[in-house]
Amino acid sequence: MQLNEIKGIGLTTEKYLNELGIYTGEDLINYFPFRYEIIENTNTKDLKDGDKIVIGGICEQTPTVFHFSKRLNKMTFRLNTGEFIVKVDIFNRAFLKSKLNAGTVITVIGKYDRKHNSITASDIKFGLIEKTIIEPVYHSSFKINSSKINKMINYALDKAKIKDYLPKSIIEKYKFMDKKEATLIAHNPKDKVKLNRALERLKYEELFNFMLKINYLKNSKKKGDGLKRNVDYEKIENFIETLPFKLTIDQEKSIKDIYNDLINENRMNRLLQGDVGSGKTIVAFIALYINYLSKYQGALMAPTEILASQHYQNMTKLFPNLNIVLLKGKMKAKEKKETLELIKSGKADIIIGTHALISEDVTYKNLGLVITDEQHRFGVNQRGNLKNKGITPDILYMSATPIPRTYALTLYGDMDISSIKTMPKGRKPVETILLGNSKEDINKYLRMMLDEMKKGHQIYAVAPLVEESEKIDLKNVYEIEENLKKAFKKFPEYKIGIVHGKMKQDEKDKVMKDFKDNKIQILISTTVIEVGVDVQNATMMIIFDSFRFGLSALHQLRGRVGRNDLNSYCILLSDKETKRLDVLTKTNDGFKVSEEDFKLRGGGDIFGIRQSGDMNFKLADIKTDYELLLKTKEDSDRFIKSEEFNNLENKHIKDLVINSINQD
Ligand code: ADP
Ligand code: MG
Repeated sequence: MQLNEIKGIGLTTEKYLNELGIYTGEDLINYFPFRYEIIENTNTKDLKDGDKIVIGGICEQTPTVFHFSKRLNKMTFRLNTGEFIVKVDIFNRAFLKSKLNAGTVITVIGKYDRKHNSITASDIKFGLIEKTIIEPVYHSSFKINSSKINKMINYALDKAKIKDYLPKSIIEKYKFMDKKEATLIAHNPKDKVKLNRALERLKYEELFNFMLKINYLKNSKKKGDGLKRNVDYEKIENFIETLPFKLTIDQEKSIKDIYNDLINENRMNRLLQGDVGSGKTIVAFIALYINYLSKYQGALMAPTEILASQHYQNMTKLFPNLNIVLLKGKMKAKEKKETLELIKSGKADIIIGTHALISEDVTYKNLGLVITDEQHRFGVNQRGNLKNKGITPDILYMSATPIPRTYALTLYGDMDISSIKTMPKGRKPVETILLGNSKEDINKYLRMMLDEMKKGHQIYAVAPLVEESEKIDLKNVYEIEENLKKAFKKFPEYKIGIVHGKMKQDEKDKVMKDFKDNKIQILISTTVIEVGVDVQNATMMIIFDSFRFGLSALHQLRGRVGRNDLNSYCILLSDKETKRLDVLTKTNDGFKVSEEDFKLRGGGDIFGIRQSGDMNFKLADIKTDYELLLKTKEDSDRFIKSEEFNNLENKHIKDLVINSINQD
């Protein structure tokens, strides 16, 4: 279904949806809420500071509105609940002003601030709430809000035929509800029990398909389909000797693994995993070198242009005699044409770039190896694309979110795995400190910040991205800015900058550049700091409300500091879940952190916030849904050996399997 076939979607809306990654009717229907808001009137008896509150009352006066900027306004009024009067602030709802008069009956949903006896509202509903409402919350943008997204999804659902990819036997086994019904419920939940069952069914299908693909690829691995190569290992050893450092044992072992894969008769399909900074890049470069020595072209695909440029510069320095080219999305036409020509003629030995590497207009002479980042595993139709060009190169995936071997074997069952566990010598671990919200603790981290800034170092301050679309979080960011400004009032030379997900790209780029150039000393951000941002001078990170993040995500974040031999710090702020977070103060090993994350599996609250997925799942989370994953693994193992699969009577399943072959 095309987006423009759906009621209410014109060209402009289509563009806004595209910005959210929604391109088709199917994308829209599968755009599931990232959390659910349970709205029931709060018992105000023992309301604590910072509690979520839902309360009905009467608006006491016409609200006043304050405009901070074109994109940010605040509306304020008093609410009389019958028991007390409380001040209400709500961001970016100035358009509601005309409907709010003295005497209007409303329900306010937000966060209670005890000290100021006020509520920072995330939403206002007209009238009182009689019974529990479960509201889906979608990642949205300034241009298109959550409830509008829900409306459009429902229009789409109205017309849509929904493909059910589960085999009949499975549906019967678990007495799963109809898929369309489950989808409807996921977008329009009425009660918790049904929602639970609907989500379970949808997640099961997602994980089952994933496991089926892996199983299928594992079984269809062909022997002897690799490229013929002949490389003398001595040449590689000679190169390694020219490096300014000694490789770690794990790096050496990974290189041997890759070498053996490349020269044997089978096609390589290997995962190289290790923490940020563990030295995967040099291993990747050497893999490209081995491939070059066997007279094939090699491609390295990075997730961002910044990172691609970085790799290009580093590799060119290490291998001045190779012909290495950088292919970017945005290039001058002439330059691009020349680069494409070099690739086509075979003059380019190594090609580094982003997605552009696998686009239609790139023709390779003889591509022997493709190295890509984890994000692209099932996402991009890469091998399909390359196959169309008549080549089946060896593949190496790199992942900076390492997971312990037992879990990796399940999740990457069709691949061979190399892990780099030992960090290069001399790397100082990031000292991680868990602090609460007491005055004492606040003073402690403010003093540490000041110390670092006096040394000329810089600081990241990260506010949770979880509700990134919601006004309430913007309030957080501006509040953090205000508090820090107050705290460092005597030091006007220290500048504070803000980046958040809803800023325009050029605004973001400007702030990031200022931070890189040390014109900004403290960078406050809501979104995960972009991949590949490397500010060596940043030695400290403070993460607010850190309980909202998974351990691996926090570990990933703190990897942004400690990029040289300076002492560096990560301050985790949280009054909740301190036991879980404490793991991070004890280890800097990503494998161990990940293991803890898996151990806590199943602890996730189904109505809680979904972390954006490690493996690009729409609903499932490999960690909290790990038990379900194991179940689907078992089921898909059995299914793939069954008559039902053999006959492939079910057209959808056939589609799925064929799809998966093209996709890998
Ligand atoms: P990753 O790609 O795993 O995030 P990098 O390859 O970028 O890590 O390595 C981080 C830094 O460590 C680079 O500057 C690299 O040159 C350096 N490095 C890599 N291996 C070693 C080693 N064995 N000893 C010392 N430094 C190393
Ligand atoms: Mg091989």
